[in-house]
Amino acid sequence: DAALVWLRRDLRLDDHAALYHALRSARKVWCVFVFDTTLLDELPRADRRVEFIWHSIVELDATLRQRGGGLLVRHGDPFEEIPALARALDVQAVHVNRDHEPAAITRDARVRGELAHAGIALHSHKDQVIFEGDEVLTQAGSPFSVFTPYKNAWLRKLEPFYLRSYPVERHLGALAAPPVALDRGVPRLSDLDFLPTDMATRLHPGASGGATLLLDFLERIDHYGDTRDFPAVKGPSYLSTHLRFGTVSIRQLARHAHERQVAGSRGAEVWLSELIWRDFYHQILLHHPRVVTHSFKPEYDAIRWHHGHEADAWFEAWCEGRTGYPIVDAAMHQLNQTGYMHNRLRMIVASFLTKDLGIDWRRGEAWFARQLNDYDLAANNGGWQWAASTGCDAQPYFRIFNPVSQSQRFDPDGRFIQRYLPRLAGLQGPALHAPWQARPIDLVAAGLRLGIDYPLPLVEHAAARERTLQRYAVVRKDG
Ligand code: FAD
Repeated sequence: DAALVWLRRDLRLDDHAALYHALRSARKVWCVFVFDTTLLDELPRADRRVEFIWHSIVELDATLRQRGGGLLVRHGDPFEEIPALARALDVQAVHVNRDHEPAAITRDARVRGELAHAGIALHSHKDQVIFEGDEVLTQAGSPFSVFTPYKNAWLRKLEPFYLRSYPVERHLGALAAPPVALDRGVPRLSDLDFLPTDMATRLHPGASGGATLLLDFLERIDHYGDTRDFPAVKGPSYLSTHLRFGTVSIRQLARHAHERQVAGSRGAEVWLSELIWRDFYHQILLHHPRVVTHSFKPEYDAIRWHHGHEADAWFEAWCEGRTGYPIVDAAMHQLNQTGYMHNRLRMIVASFLTKDLGIDWRRGEAWFARQLNDYDLAANNGGWQWAASTGCDAQPYFRIFNPVSQSQRFDPDGRFIQRYLPRLAGLQGPALHAPWQARPIDLVAAGLRLGIDYPLPLVEHAAARERTLQRYAVVRKDG
């Protein structure tokens, strides 16, 4: 028997469900990755994520060749490429790890149908999450839409079995070298029509990069709970891009977190909880694909968001980090310059866009989708709907972040702000969080002309807050 493993967002060999099942069930196993033109054509010609994937693929191919295999790489539409390759290799089965995004589910259904015409099976496996859609349900058998009970049920269900890694290593003997006639090697980035970015200096791609970041984080995990909210501090793991592309295994991460938690680490407990949020949003997306375009809570679709010329100008200012609120602007510069944004800042800027500027969360979500290295539909949509109060288990709409007090609390000495807004380097103390309140003498000393060197605030928070309460009043059931 022969089988083909189609890699997508699982760019590693260790602890890999689909690869393990293929190796166990077939005598000859090949691996393929398709640079999917239906996705790539939509992207700007320089994209850190494409480059991250590309580097990861180069590493994967080299590792496979050391083990007697090699990666078959294609550039095209998987609907055509996968069935063609499966036929050319004369395999009986194609193995994949499941992807819960609606577009991926549709794609896989089409490919499955096409393969079936040739008598080839498509086997899909759970790999991306610890618990999938129907594995954690309420006692009534329905999906959870509130996080804490979901998390409790998730933890109750957790047994060592679910965290065990797939011992792929033991079965690698079944890897087959790509037939010469089909082996095209890994194309160059320029062959894919992409330009290099600064990705390599910022991210450590590939399974080797993921392993390095994990080792580094395990040194700090005990302090995660105390440090995770302060963007100027190296608190979080920075593993999100690796989780997105599967260059680390979620089981390995959850195993470390769980073991450390059992050993008494409070930081590990908090971190495990974040990994559970990831599963939570994946199952929300699976059960409620309408959230891609609609509010989770339907009554929130009645909200009339600010739109028109002013809203467009404000949105552009938000995207470019020109709102006049330093914490928001510094965060947007971090996103635009690096492709990463700290979680606390994602909450602050999302709240600012929706509740200070009154702009539809979907516009912010789309900007994040373009810019984030770790962009993940489930987590991004969940995060935006949480901040906009339209989501499941979201922030109540009347709880509105004050961007100045958030800034004072989470970047108390303005170190993060000054890193991304060097123009404010001369300001100190409270003025850093609200330059428009600075004494003129301090502005002069800092060499800063408000409205010229740094913008005046687009809106006044207290007034914006009142407008938001009115805007959201349409959803008040008692009103
Ligand atoms: P850590 O703090 O080290 O967390 C570890 C892992 O847990 C993360 O890598 C991530 O996989 C998961 N995780 C943590 N927080 C969440 C969460 N709230 N929801 C789901 N999973 C979580 N995360 C993404 O991976 N992709 C996105 O596109 C994304 N968009 C977001 C948009 C908004 C508006 C908000 C508020 C949050 C978003 N998040 C997203 C969640 C979170 O901000 C990032 O996962 C986190 O900042 C990534 O950094 P890290 O790996 O250092 O996180």
